[in-house]
Amino acid sequence: MKVGILGGTFDPIHNGHLYLAEEALHILALDKVVFMPSGNPPHKKGKSITDGSLRYEMVNAAIRDNEKFFVSSYEIDKNGFSYTYETLEYMKMSLNKDDEMYFITGADCLDQIYKWKNIDRIFNVCKFVVFYRPGFSVESLMEKKKKVEEQFKTEIIFLHLLELNISSTYIREKVRQGYNLSYIIPPSVNYIIKELNLYI
Ligand code: ATP
Ligand code: MG
Repeated sequence: MKVGILGGTFDPIHNGHLYLAEEALHILALDKVVFMPSGNPPHKKGKSITDGSLRYEMVNAAIRDNEKFFVSSYEIDKNGFSYTYETLEYMKMSLNKDDEMYFITGADCLDQIYKWKNIDRIFNVCKFVVFYRPGFSVESLMEKKKKVEEQFKTEIIFLHLLELNISSTYIREKVRQGYNLSYIIPPSVNYIIKELNLYI
């Protein structure tokens, strides 16, 4: 079995995230993709990040119709900051020996990768997949990719397909401005945002 893991704040989940997951399923021939919303850092509680249970609910609503998409509450249940290496080691334990894990990210993650803790342990348990994201120089991403690959004796899968310039930050701004976002987030997520008056 080949399992993709897509971690994020998902505040809120948007079509960019869903596109990444669907594209990864096909290109990497995955059996499923698990969305992993992050927990709320204790010091930020109630301030800059929407409560984990609501972010989880929005992810759940967004993926409901796709039988290959799943959501895990592992990081949210821990209720605090989680290191990616820890989460991936935990996920790896639930798989069989021959199963493969793919950690799916956007270009900003590769750009910032040296800030992550124990990246060597991430490369030990999964294949690292990076999707291009608008706003990043392909050249500098390629340089970083090469450097990381040489340093950690690993191979990063870089995918440059559709460039979707959508971010949760953009969504939150536009909700505040009263836009209808149903064309760039799933309508079910838009419904929850409206019902609960999120991001205003
Ligand atoms: P925010 O603006 O709040 O940071 P975001 O859109 O970056 O939100 P995250 O939850 O931070 O969303 O991202 C989760 C993962 O999805 C990250 O690996 C990020 O790089 C990736 N990602 C998000 N949007 C895109 C996109 N449009 N193209 C490629 N990767 C993306
Ligand atoms: Mg982000």
